[in-house]
Amino acid sequence: MNYKQHHWHTCTADQVAENLDTNIHQGLSAKEVSERLDHYGENRITTKKGQSSIVRFLLQFHQPLIYILLGATIVTLLLGEYPDAAVIFAVVLINSTIGYIQETKALKAIDALSKSMSTIATVIRDSRQAVVNSVNLVPGDIVSVQPGDKIPADMRLFSVKNLQVDESALTGESVATEKKLDLVEADTLLGDRNNMGFATTVVTYGTGKGIVVSTGDRTEVGKINQSISSAEELDTPLTLKIKKFSHTLLWLILSLALFILALAYFRGESLADAFMVAVALMVGAIPEGLPAAVTIMLAIGVAQMAKRRAIIRKLVAVETLGSTNVICSDKTGTLTENQMTVQKILAGGEHFDVTGIGYKPEGKVIYEGEEVVLTQRPALRQLLRAGVLCNNSRIVGEGERWTAEGDPTEAALISAAEKAGIADHYTDQYYPRIDEVPFQSEYQYMASLHQHEQQAVVFLKGSVEAVLRSCDFMMTKTGAMVAIDLSDVQKRGEQFAAEGLRVLAFAFKNFDSSKTDVEHKDVAEGMIFIGLQGMIDPPRKEAIDAVALCQQAGIQVKMITGDHALTAATIADQLGIRGKTENGKLLALTGLELQKVSDEELKRIADEFSVFARVSPDQKLRLVKALQATGKVVAMTGDGVNDGPALKQANIGIAMGITGTEVAKDASDMVLTDDNFASIEAAVEEGRGVLDNLTKFIVWTLPTNLGEALVILASIAFATQLPLAPVQILWINMTTAVLLGLMLTFEPKELGIMDRPPIPSDKPILTFPLIMRTLLVGTLIMLSAFILFRYELSKGASLEESQTVATTVFIVLEGFYLFNCRSLRSSVRQIGWFSNKWVYYGAFAMFALQLVFIHAPVMNALFHSVPIDLNSWIRILIAGIGLFVIVSLEKTIRRKFTVSEEF
Ligand code: ADP
Ligand code: MG
Repeated sequence: MNYKQHHWHTCTADQVAENLDTNIHQGLSAKEVSERLDHYGENRITTKKGQSSIVRFLLQFHQPLIYILLGATIVTLLLGEYPDAAVIFAVVLINSTIGYIQETKALKAIDALSKSMSTIATVIRDSRQAVVNSVNLVPGDIVSVQPGDKIPADMRLFSVKNLQVDESALTGESVATEKKLDLVEADTLLGDRNNMGFATTVVTYGTGKGIVVSTGDRTEVGKINQSISSAEELDTPLTLKIKKFSHTLLWLILSLALFILALAYFRGESLADAFMVAVALMVGAIPEGLPAAVTIMLAIGVAQMAKRRAIIRKLVAVETLGSTNVICSDKTGTLTENQMTVQKILAGGEHFDVTGIGYKPEGKVIYEGEEVVLTQRPALRQLLRAGVLCNNSRIVGEGERWTAEGDPTEAALISAAEKAGIADHYTDQYYPRIDEVPFQSEYQYMASLHQHEQQAVVFLKGSVEAVLRSCDFMMTKTGAMVAIDLSDVQKRGEQFAAEGLRVLAFAFKNFDSSKTDVEHKDVAEGMIFIGLQGMIDPPRKEAIDAVALCQQAGIQVKMITGDHALTAATIADQLGIRGKTENGKLLALTGLELQKVSDEELKRIADEFSVFARVSPDQKLRLVKALQATGKVVAMTGDGVNDGPALKQANIGIAMGITGTEVAKDASDMVLTDDNFASIEAAVEEGRGVLDNLTKFIVWTLPTNLGEALVILASIAFATQLPLAPVQILWINMTTAVLLGLMLTFEPKELGIMDRPPIPSDKPILTFPLIMRTLLVGTLIMLSAFILFRYELSKGASLEESQTVATTVFIVLEGFYLFNCRSLRSSVRQIGWFSNKWVYYGAFAMFALQLVFIHAPVMNALFHSVPIDLNSWIRILIAGIGLFVIVSLEKTIRRKFTVSEEF
């Protein structure tokens, strides 16, 4: 079964089908599919990674710190200090290896998450329509596509309806191509092979069907094999800030080092010693663990968010989420349950109630307290029939468990009709579908063309405004046609909407039987209005809580929806969304009104209002821009084909995992696996937690480097021996970062994390209070180390012993300070002594390791350490406890005199 690669675009669809042994009506059989799958493999494109592993490993050396360390290795080698040279070089290797491993892990995690979101394809197999994972497609499969779909494999189209495809991923051409079925010349360029659909390109309009001709790496895009989903960017504003910071630091340190050499030269001291001092200063002052720690912490954030149903597609989103101060959310399905039930009906001028809840097709249609008989109500019957026919969804289930398959709005219509006794298979049989105009948000309607008793009939369903626009007549309760009373119908629609009901209007028109297709112009006028169906879509309970939490956390929640203004405002009110009101009622701004305001005015309006109704995707984009222009960090949800630009523009574009189109997911920074607003709130919470823990790590780590630099400068100022040898400094920096600092990643979220305003995105990592604390702690560590070092020397201890004491001072004080850093503001008592057991494990491991450092002969040889006596230990512990107490006091005082925003 080896089908020759053909110039498929030069063959007719029949030839293609024959060649591939398939049938465009029946599709392949399950057996054929599995055989072909074995033969061709999965429909997956092997992506080339952006950089090879070796390059990424080598890039780990491309950092100022590593240059310094490599320089230090050479200097120590030249000075004949071979063990030092070996240790320093080992540190370089270890650092790069850890950096490489961490980076690889982070990349893999993000990659795996985005892969876990599978793409689906609609196929015809065994004569039935089915939805399959697109990796299971094989040549010969019959696939249909609709707006928002990514074309899952290369296919020869055999049916198109206004099909337009964005092929920029393949051809670079950004204008969508209109697909046609005409044959084209063999040597036509890819972009002009109109009768073909290519894998990874995106349907922007219309629908189409095609025969899959090649899959996986044999597709055009697979052949080019560019780095389609090349490695994710791991840089975020924060990591960039840190990189910049270390560059500045590098120059400062280099100048200081030069100064030390010059000083030694003029003082007539040994240059070799001065070199060691300079090296010590250089390795000490740079926070080596920082970049790796930031990446690790962000990656942990990604994992935590995934647990709470938010899949991060770009690492930077983790950080931005913590600063988000406006969330613009869709209503239907995100803020509401998307569990639609028709409750009120208007048909032929009469009002009906429908009982029953959910999709279970059991209940009654009631008129003035009595169950209706359909045969006596032609208008109601036509209305329910329209709901079933102009419909692409189904309800499935048994007993009490019924669910919607497809669009919940449509499923509700089927349930309502079945309650009144209209079964969809019955109508399918008597009104076979010929053609349709699929639903698109921009038009707010859908139309379908059916054959019925030597006639063709078009049904139209959509928003009240959209449908009424083309209605000239209406059906009375007896089934007669009269001129429509527009204002009356509008008023009744508004009554439904004011109750929070989602309202759909229905109309129809007859054509003669020669009609074979339906287009927008066919439903633009002369339609006969039948009635309205109003369905409830209750707010999600967890969304109500999440909205409250967000508002309390200083985040504005805005509802942006295609639904009716009154429906939207009523639901927004039930959700507790706050915004502009009038007479105590929440106000909604409509797309129509939006269109009229200038960009300048929009800035004010976008801020004031919190409910936007009948909004089109391009207006969403304007709204995001307006909000951003007022300095807001905007998170925006989207699911449709045309939401891409708004999602890209938003600081955090959020796509729906269940109902979202491929286009929306592609444009997003984050995907919600449950489409639930509460998951956005959870992600924000996690984002804030990650930012907090990052700050804690930085605040914890910097005093070590500061203390090291200061202690060396002090030794120069007092012209005394070096309290810390370069290898000892490396020992301190490497071990404490891993065993102590990283334990802060396990710190639970701060108390009241959602009680404080968002962290401004331009806020420096270290605020004034934190800089002061860093200076305080750095100085205290330096003083303890320097004084105890001098004390040991004055007692007649050896240089090695005194240096070992100084090294241990650093380790122990950092260990105590770690407990201060568990919260930036709260005391250990407030957050609970044992709420993070990892700091204890880490501190214990660090202590044990330091004993090895002091007592193991190998370590003594490598790090110039020697055993120290118990009294020295006691002095060091007292210094440690002293530091902990002083910082605790400082925190207490600050808590008394400042408000939480200052951290
Ligand atoms: P939303 O889902 O937020 O209400 P949409 O843009 O999806 O926004 O829908 C806009 C309007 O179009 C809806 O309020 C409804 O009146 C109408 N509508 C929604 N779904 C359908 C559908 N499947 N067929 C016809 N009309 C629909
Ligand atoms: Mg919708």
